[in-house]
Amino acid sequence: MSHIFHRFPGNLPPVAVAGDGVFIIDKDGKRYLDASGGAAVSCLGHSNARVRDAIITQGQKLAFAHTSFFTSEPAEELAEFLVRRTPETLTKVHYVSGGSEAVETALKLARQYFVAKGEPKRGVIISRERSYHGATLGAVAISGNAWRRAPFEPLLFKSVQIAACYPYRGKQGNETDLDYGLRVANELEREILAREPGTVAAFVAETVVGATAGAVPPVEGYFKRIREICDQYGVLLILDEVMSGMGRTGSLFAFEQEGISPDIVTIAKGMGAGYQPIGAAICTQEIFDTINSDGGFAHGHTYLGHAIACAAALEVQKVIEDENLLENVRAVARYLSESLNERFGQHPNVGDIRGRGLFQAIELVEDRESKRPFQASRKLHAVIKKNAMQRGLMVYPTGGVADGKAGDHVLLAPPYIVTRGEVDIIVDRLASAVTAALES
Ligand code: PMP
Repeated sequence: MSHIFHRFPGNLPPVAVAGDGVFIIDKDGKRYLDASGGAAVSCLGHSNARVRDAIITQGQKLAFAHTSFFTSEPAEELAEFLVRRTPETLTKVHYVSGGSEAVETALKLARQYFVAKGEPKRGVIISRERSYHGATLGAVAISGNAWRRAPFEPLLFKSVQIAACYPYRGKQGNETDLDYGLRVANELEREILAREPGTVAAFVAETVVGATAGAVPPVEGYFKRIREICDQYGVLLILDEVMSGMGRTGSLFAFEQEGISPDIVTIAKGMGAGYQPIGAAICTQEIFDTINSDGGFAHGHTYLGHAIACAAALEVQKVIEDENLLENVRAVARYLSESLNERFGQHPNVGDIRGRGLFQAIELVEDRESKRPFQASRKLHAVIKKNAMQRGLMVYPTGGVADGKAGDHVLLAPPYIVTRGEVDIIVDRLASAVTAALES
C-alpha cells in the first residue's frame, strides 16, 4: 500500500527506477520511450552524465544559501546565460521552483509595477479560453480550464477570458488564417474597451498552447496584433512559455518566431529539464526599476535561486547549446510531422495534426466532417495513455472539453536528442495504442 496521495484513483503507476536517454526503466526492467518528456519537461532525456556531474560538483561545494543573505555563482551565471540569449528588452530573471510559481510571480510583477507607477486601478488580468497556467490559486484563476477551476471557483479572483487562437475549431467559412488571427486578437481590444479605461494590468497567453488544447501554434500575425493592442492601451504582455519555451519549438523562446517580445516571459519545464525543479519569470528593465523604486518586489519563495537547481539548469542549457540540439529539434520535428501526417492524415478519427518543433499533437474526433469530439465520458485520452504505456510508450493525452468544442488530443514532446529511428517507434506504438483504444 502506498502512502503517497497519488493524484488519480485506481492502480498504482509503475515504479520508475532508472533513465537511459529517451527511455525510463521501471522496477521490472520494462523500458518506456518518453515521447512526451513527461509533460514537456525532460528535454535532454534521462540520466545525462554532464548534468549529473554538475549537480554533484555543486552539491559538494554548496547546496543552498538563502537569497536574503547571498547570491551564488551558479545563479548569477545562469541569469547571465539566459539574458544574453533573450531579446535585449528582457533583462532581469526572477527565479522560482516551477511553472505555477513563475506565473504567480509574473502576475505579481505586473500588479506591483502598476502600483509603483501610480496606476493602482490596473488590476484586471485577461487571459484565454482553453489555457493552462498552473495549479496555484492565482494561476488557476487565470486558466481557462473548467475542470480544474470548478472545485475552487469561490476562492479564485476574477479574470476575463477571450477566445483562444485555435484555427482548427475557430476559423469560420473561408476565413484566411490572417483574418482569423486578427479577429480573435481583436477580442482583446474589445475586452479592454469594455471596462473602465486604465483598469487592465496584463494579458496572459501561452505562445504555443500546451496542456489544455494540445500544441496549438498561433496563426501568423496574431501575436503582432496582440502586441500592438497591449502597447496602445498600456497593458503588459505576459507570455507563458513554461511548456513551449527553452527550445521546445525550435527557438529558445517560441515568441521569437512571432516577431514580438513580451514584457514578461515565464519559463520552467525545459529550463531544468527535470533534473531539478526550477523556473523563472524574466522581465524588462523598466518593470524591475519601477518596482525597485517602490522599495523592492513584495514577493519571493524560500528556494528561489537554489544553487544546485541553478547549476543543473545551467548545465542543461550548455549541453543543448554545445551539442547543437535545437538544430536536431528543427530537423527531427519535420520528420515527426511528416510521419504523423503519413500515419494519421487519412485516419477517420484524427481531425487535426499540428504543432511546432518537438511539440506536436493529434486531435481525435468521432466524425471528421463535423469535427464532433468523442463523448467525454468515454475518456478516450485515458484509454490511449493506458494502451501506450502497455506498449512502452509515454505520451501526454488530455480530454476534450465538455462543451464539445474540443476533442481528446495526444501531445508529443520528446527529448531534443530523439532520433528519426525513435520517431518511427513512437509513431508505430502510438498508432497501435490509438487503434486499440478505439476498438475497446
Ligand atoms: N504554465 C503552463 C503553460 C504549463 O503548461 C504548466 C504545467 N503544465 C504550468 C504553467 C504550471 O507549471 P508547474 O506544473 O511546473 O507548476
